[in-house]
Amino acid sequence: MAKAPLIILAGPSGSGKSTIISRLLHERGLPLRLSVSATTRPPRPYEQNGVHYYFWTREQFEKQQQAGAFLEWAMVHGHYYGTLRSEVDEYRAQGIGVLLDIDVQGAAQVRAQYPDCLSFFIRTSSWEEYERRLQKRGESPESIAQRLATARRELERMHEFDHVIINEDLDLAVAQVRREIEKAFQKGSA
Ligand code: 5GP
Repeated sequence: MAKAPLIILAGPSGSGKSTIISRLLHERGLPLRLSVSATTRPPRPYEQNGVHYYFWTREQFEKQQQAGAFLEWAMVHGHYYGTLRSEVDEYRAQGIGVLLDIDVQGAAQVRAQYPDCLSFFIRTSSWEEYERRLQKRGESPESIAQRLATARRELERMHEFDHVIINEDLDLAVAQVRREIEKAFQKGSA
């Protein structure tokens, strides 16, 4: 049986990537799951271990790195983040498409190993919109500055992706992503 698609969604903080992902997961029709990444960043108040991330110590993370458990990993904003192979391969073999919410460095590593994966770069229509969304989230000024600097670097690499989605109208953005995912399922290989 052909494997279900592997789907990368990258894009700066404030691009609305997580909202698009939750819409894709909650709409009926497509068998999809979101891979739970491991990270060394501390949990935010609402985040649960094993649900939003596996929150690991640096030692735990490095041990798994050495054991080859990661499909990709990267350092983002001073913390390790990585996709575990166990979150991906067996689900795809069962016909479940796997979504990866990862940064541009991780996306390049995944693409190198799975050239048939489907990749999306999610962005807003303007720079001011990132700032506005980050401010609305209540991030600290330092965190906002750091995330905007990362956003600038990420935007320089958006041409590496199969599709660049401008998330101005959420319904439209979700529909665009969904259409491409449906095509990948139909192709039966990705
Ligand atoms: P946050 O700390 O806001 O949850 O995530 C920060 C950034 O790390 C986001 O761009 C997110 O996509 C990225 N990220 C989350 N998990 C992974 C992962 O497993 N691998 C990589 N390379 N990036 C990740």
